[in-house]
Amino acid sequence: MRHVDLSDVQLASSQTARRINRDILLELIRTNEPISRAGLSRQSGLQRSTVSQIVEQLIREKWVCEGGVASPPRGRRPTLLELNDDLVAIAVDIHPRQATVATIDLKGRLLSRSLVALSSAPATSTRLMTECMQRMRQSLPRKSIEGIGISLPGRIDPETQRLIFAPNLHWPDFDLKGVIEETMGLPVKMENAATASLLAELTFRRIDGVRDIVMVSVSEGVGTGIFANGQLISGHRGMAGEFGHVTLDPAGLLCSCGRRGCWETFASCRAATRYFMDLQPQCKAITFQELLNLADEGDQHAVQALAKQASYIGRGLQLIITALSPSLILVAGDIMPAWHRFGSIIEKEATMHLLGGTLPRILPTHEGEIARLRGAAALVFQRLSAHEQR
Ligand SMILES: [Zn+2]
Repeated sequence: MRHVDLSDVQLASSQTARRINRDILLELIRTNEPISRAGLSRQSGLQRSTVSQIVEQLIREKWVCEGGVASPPRGRRPTLLELNDDLVAIAVDIHPRQATVATIDLKGRLLSRSLVALSSAPATSTRLMTECMQRMRQSLPRKSIEGIGISLPGRIDPETQRLIFAPNLHWPDFDLKGVIEETMGLPVKMENAATASLLAELTFRRIDGVRDIVMVSVSEGVGTGIFANGQLISGHRGMAGEFGHVTLDPAGLLCSCGRRGCWETFASCRAATRYFMDLQPQCKAITFQELLNLADEGDQHAVQALAKQASYIGRGLQLIITALSPSLILVAGDIMPAWHRFGSIIEKEATMHLLGGTLPRILPTHEGEIARLRGAAALVFQRLSAHEQR
């Protein structure tokens, strides 16, 4: 018998059914465009009249537009439907020292991108970002900017949409959403960077049929986004997925979260540069990008440092596999350019000593940092999804 949570009962109404059908048709248009109304009816199994009604609604809401005309061998030439690429989101990907601001259309295409250097003062950083957003908005006068999506290295309370845990950002409590909404006059949605990357994969890349995915983002820190039993998991106050702050060694190094020996202190890109410095103490401090370059040039200490990081990433993945048993683990973040050399170490460590069942597939995300931007855009385009309309 199926468990029903009586504190959250929502009886299925005809409105609910219509909303679900609307989301299905929108998804069919996204994946099959250009497509006719008859084609939608065939693919969805919905009656032609229902399809026509919902399509008219989608056209009114500007999600869909009528494009070219099909050329069937005989009969009437149907008008084809496609996503309206005049709908654009401003996507922001915030890192501790810089942010990328971009515009992305409903089809997931990147229209423009710009880097903004950030300071430790959130008000100044926010002003620099909104100035960049305004320049981008002015450069696209013919597009309809729907909103702003922000991906962040932290957790956001789903109720208040305020940052509640962002140890690598070092920003005190600051109403980022409120300030940007007021300055730009647009709605703002925020999400953890790993969850945003996962949302991008679910929205713009076809991974239908996979119901258990964990996205692991490895950059300054280690973040995860969880899709379990076909649902994005946020947990109580949005804090689910902080595997990066599970203690592996209570006597280990102090972590940015205040605890010691978290997985992140062993597996992040900062850990890799530290491993390199340990092997070559006389060397000046280097960035992770410089470490990758050195490894490409054949520097053995750089290769060893990255291999050690990869091995710790893999060990931490054992935690995730044991806890959630995903069928797919996607890895994203600054580590991606080194995947061809270190991915096999990650896989080997992750799949050692497993309890049973089938090994999960462990894959790099195709697009690295673009995934976080597309995820931020997807937050905006989800505004009318079934979940948002409750
Ligand atoms: Zn920590």
